Amino acid sequence: MADMFGPQADVRVCDEPPVDETKYIPIVSPKPGANVHAVLLGMRFRGVYTHFFQNRTKACLYPTSECEGCRQMLVRRWKAYCAAFMPAAGRMVIVEVTKDAVLHNRALTTPSRSLRGARITVSRMGTARNGPVRAELDFRPRNGELPEPFNLGDALCRVWGLLPAVGRALALDDNDGQG
Ligand SMILES: [Zn+2]
Repeated sequence: MADMFGPQADVRVCDEPPVDETKYIPIVSPKPGANVHAVLLGMRFRGVYTHFFQNRTKACLYPTSECEGCRQMLVRRWKAYCAAFMPAAGRMVIVEVTKDAVLHNRALTTPSRSLRGARITVSRMGTARNGPVRAELDFRPRNGELPEPFNLGDALCRVWGLLPAVGRALALDDNDGQG
């Protein structure tokens, strides 16, 4: 029996339960001519201040002394995010919309009814990569079971390389209207 795993084999021991790193959920936003189609899982979009630096969007952190973007005096950009999934691709995504999109559709962040189960189409107008974004909601009933929402705050922290605790304010999203 000792030879079965070779003389150097050892059991891999770890007392801490592993962090599930397989659950990386990407942020999706539309490109010109390539709309985002998804079904929303969260109750509403949650707004987050971000900075654009090192060629990507990063969360603005509080207090300001802890935020690399603020220390570099970079402008804050407000974005809003919602847990979603793409039935056609069978994958979870984080849908991102801009301030402009929310100003044109206030139901995204302050809905009169839960957005969970609503279909959303997010499009970018014009041909510029940073052109205005619009989001349309479709509340018509759809077939198929809806997956449970994932923890939006944790998922965003994973994308931004932050500890999940940093996103705890956003983690409330899952319980909105339930308690
Ligand atoms: Zn900041």
